[in-house]
Order: sequence, then C-alpha cells, then structure tokens
Amino acid sequence: MPLSTDIRLPKDRKPIFPDRCVACGMPGPDDRFRVGTHAIGWWTLAFWTFGRRFSVDVPACEACRRQMVRQRRIRRLVSGLFLVAGVGVAIYVVGNPHGVKRWLAMGIALACLLPSLAWEMLSPRPIDLTAYSDSVDYEFRDEDYADEFLALNQGADDSDGQSPPIGPS
Ligand SMILES: [Zn+2]
Repeated sequence: MPLSTDIRLPKDRKPIFPDRCVACGMPGPDDRFRVGTHAIGWWTLAFWTFGRRFSVDVPACEACRRQMVRQRRIRRLVSGLFLVAGVGVAIYVVGNPHGVKRWLAMGIALACLLPSLAWEMLSPRPIDLTAYSDSVDYEFRDEDYADEFLALNQGADDSDGQSPPIGPS
C-alpha cells in the first residue's frame, strides 16, 4: 500500500499495538477493529487463489471502529460496481470476446478499474495487512503510530528476558 508506513513481523509473532485508537489516536480506546487478509505467495499467481486467512484485532475507539467497518463496506461495494461496469463496457465495446478480442476485453475492463484502484492507493486505510507465508506487513497510515508499533514489537522480542531486543544495527 503506497503512502503508508509498512512494518514486517514474523507471522507467528503476536503483534503489540500502541494503546490508542489506530484511526484517531485517542488514548485507551474501548473497542477493537478486526482487520484481516488472505496470505499471498507463489500459489496466488500459480493457482489464482489465496492462502489461509490471517486477522488481528487492533485497538480503536467505538466511533472509529464503526466508521472503518462502514468504509470497508463502501470500498467493497465501489470496487464491485467498477468491476461490473468494466466488464459491461468491455462486452459492449468488444461484443462476443473470443480470440484476440478476449485480450482487448480484458484491457478495457482493467482500464475501467483504474479509477477505483487509484482511489484505493490515494486514500490509505488507518491500518491494512498483507500476509505472506511466514511474515505479515502491517501498513499504517499514521507514521508516528507505525514508529510506536515498531518500537513496541522490537521490545517484545525480549519476551524471555534473556535475548537482547532486535533493532537497527
Ligand atoms: Zn478513534
């Protein structure tokens, strides 16, 4: 996700989030927002399918949680509409897509999706995830929040009190 600060953690590490709302920054939020994604890897390209679902609960105040849930629904709806519109336009322009025309139809459908993709990129969510086979990228809109998250989770590496915390060397 462009315009966000990404932090990668091992997948089996339970992330520690700063004790404030991920969206508005209010300290001690009373709610949690569940964010999830499907793992991507070589199999995504090979079989056009996604891996196991990965999700975490992120501290958020109730108002922001509701807003983020609403925004997620709107985004899904809008991308769905663009997809349907894109395929519709492609079929209208190309007619029965076969042979070379199939690629033309695919190009037209993708072109119709561009505004929706651009909107996704230009308006990052407070938090998003990209999961790989053994690591997860935590993508934050707020750089300070991301820094705090990084500091907390570097410290957490010292869980047994023996090993030194990881950090930039
Ligand atoms: Zn909030």
